[in-house]
Amino acid sequence: MTDFIIVGHGLAGSVMAHYLIARGQKVTVIDAGLAHSASSVSVGLVNPLIGPKLNPPFMITECLIENELFFRQCERAWGSNFYRSIPLHRLFISEKQKDTWNEMEKNSDFIQFQDGQWSTAHYEEMGIQAPLGAGITKNAWQLDVPSFLQASKDYLIANKAWKNSAFQEENKQDSPKIIFCEGFRVLENPWFKYLPFAPARGEVLTVQSEIDLALSNGSWHLPGFEDYAYLGSTWDHQNLVSGPTEKGKKEILRKCDFVDFSKKDFPQHLSGVRSGTKDRHPIIGVHPNHKNLFLFNGFGSRGTSTIPHYAKKMTDFLLDDRTLPSEANLNRFE
Ligand SMILES: Cc1cc2nc3c(=O)[nH]c(=O)nc-3n(C[C@H](O)[C@H](O)[C@H](O)COP(=O)(O)OP(=O)(O)OC[C@H]3O[C@@H](n4cnc5c(N)ncnc54)[C@H](O)[C@@H]3O)c2cc1C
Repeated sequence: MTDFIIVGHGLAGSVMAHYLIARGQKVTVIDAGLAHSASSVSVGLVNPLIGPKLNPPFMITECLIENELFFRQCERAWGSNFYRSIPLHRLFISEKQKDTWNEMEKNSDFIQFQDGQWSTAHYEEMGIQAPLGAGITKNAWQLDVPSFLQASKDYLIANKAWKNSAFQEENKQDSPKIIFCEGFRVLENPWFKYLPFAPARGEVLTVQSEIDLALSNGSWHLPGFEDYAYLGSTWDHQNLVSGPTEKGKKEILRKCDFVDFSKKDFPQHLSGVRSGTKDRHPIIGVHPNHKNLFLFNGFGSRGTSTIPHYAKKMTDFLLDDRTLPSEANLNRFE
């Protein structure tokens, strides 16, 4: 008998498993390796100033602290490196956005996220078009998601806590408690599919790039952990399992026009589905009628920033009977 079954080993299920293991729980993780998962295409960016208005996302300081604690501890325990600081060059898209950045620079609340500006000329030397210059976001981070997930899986296999299969009803006999972390596949989950999820498919290209900077104008060019960079992304709420499309590729290249990629090869073109929610907060907690069934899902486009923070809250809820944060608690829909 195991204390918890975790269904799904994307970023949510893997992180959730290690929080519970760290508290002495016996865990079994079940994953069927299903196509189109978000974590299989995620570029792992943690961006502390988001959207055209450069807003710090909800609870970002707390999330950054929890990420640092969790990922560093995993790195030490597993002897690998997968979480790194990555200054993000925010290429201004309008005078208004540049003014917003300038105003923020006068406000001490933002000192932790801003590290000055670079001029247009600075970028021109590198073949980057930045007609309005750029602000440098500090305290941005990048997780090597594939390496983290592989190290997590290796640990779980070595500790006999891994099952390579789809969840079946009879798995319920193996454990008193089941936590579903199925990403957008929650849409097929008989107990939780009623919740207001809003999945969105996104595409990513890999490219051989000489530029070693993380650049964003809303879309992004991010150095990868291997010998290539990532370009992305797109949003499609309709054709969730279409896989990568020619339309998506064109859209990415049009939006990433700050560098001329026209003569480049794109060795990989990937597509995955973000498990978003209508109110843009995760959905975590216990089923209203089945008190042994739990949900940890809905991390949308920002799972790398938020999953460790909410895994800690979920662990405190499961093991210490602590209250879940109201913005994420499943009971907000009851
Ligand atoms: C193109 C793109 C780029 C992104 N970039 C970023 C980024 O830079 N930064 C960021 O923070 N976020 C990013 N995201 C979002 C991020 O990927 C997600 O927030 C996060 O990975 C969600 O993880 P998850 O575990 O909830 O879901 P998933 O990654 O989808 O994992 C679900 C897992 O559950 C398994 N599964 C499902 N159902 C079953 C079942 N019944 N039985 C067994 N196994 C099952 C699947 O096989 C899968 O492994 C991006 C997403 C996309 C699509």
